[in-house]
Amino acid sequence: MGSEMIIETTDLTKQYGRQTAVRGLNLKVKDGEIFGFLGPNGAGKTTTLLMLLGLTRPSAGSATVCGLNPIRMAREVKRHVGYLPENVGFYGDMDAVQSLEYVAALNGIGREKAKEKSEDLLKLVGLKADARKKTGAYSRGMRQRLGIAEVLMKDPEVLFLDEPTLGLDPEGAIQMVGLIQSLNQSRNITVLLSSHNLQQVQKISHRVGIMIAGSLIAEGSIDALAKETFGVGEKEYSLEEIYLTYFQEV
Ligand code: ATP
Repeated sequence: MGSEMIIETTDLTKQYGRQTAVRGLNLKVKDGEIFGFLGPNGAGKTTTLLMLLGLTRPSAGSATVCGLNPIRMAREVKRHVGYLPENVGFYGDMDAVQSLEYVAALNGIGREKAKEKSEDLLKLVGLKADARKKTGAYSRGMRQRLGIAEVLMKDPEVLFLDEPTLGLDPEGAIQMVGLIQSLNQSRNITVLLSSHNLQQVQKISHRVGIMIAGSLIAEGSIDALAKETFGVGEKEYSLEEIYLTYFQEV
């Protein structure tokens, strides 16, 4: 893991009318890390991701992603970042291979290369056996896997994952977490992981940030946050215990 920042925001703020969805956010995500982005419903996590992708304009402050300004260079940022939203959409009458080849074409990848990459990616995400099934008939777990395969098509440096294990059965969730970890380790992909599943986040994140009501109220490794919250001691605290303590303090 490098010490270079791949995502950096300075006083990033988003106002929707009179409501402040994101309030003066100073977030730093290091190159090569898995960063768990936590917070209750409505905390401002998705709004932050959208600003980092150049999909919505900040009201104030600034951000860089892979050294690029997402507002001025939204297209370039999208070339480096793969975004898996909470609900992934596909053309239901296409099968997985057609879906991937379509995404490849949109990214300017030639037919031969697209074919080869589709096959590799379907194997990687465990969808080889269902490659010719129409995506309209896919289960939620299969859709999540195909969503990951699609975002990997452009060889991103960074992945933004919004609730990637939501609605998956326990086995599917464990496999998804393993896949995220292996993408991070073997391809050095930086991951910004937004999730309410604290156990999974604890298992794979190098550092976490806790956002409440638009503000980042804590950031660091789970060990460091435990020390900050409970002091030095023998007991190992879970991310859930740490999170709830911060939550009660607000
Ligand atoms: P969740 O965990 O439920 O996905 P979140 O942390 O991603 O929540 P956001 O979706 O970023 O939260 O929402 C932050 C706040 O901004 C919420 O109060 C939400 O109602 C508001 N908000 C989000 N998008 C809009 C919009 N397009 N127009 C007006 N308000 C919005």
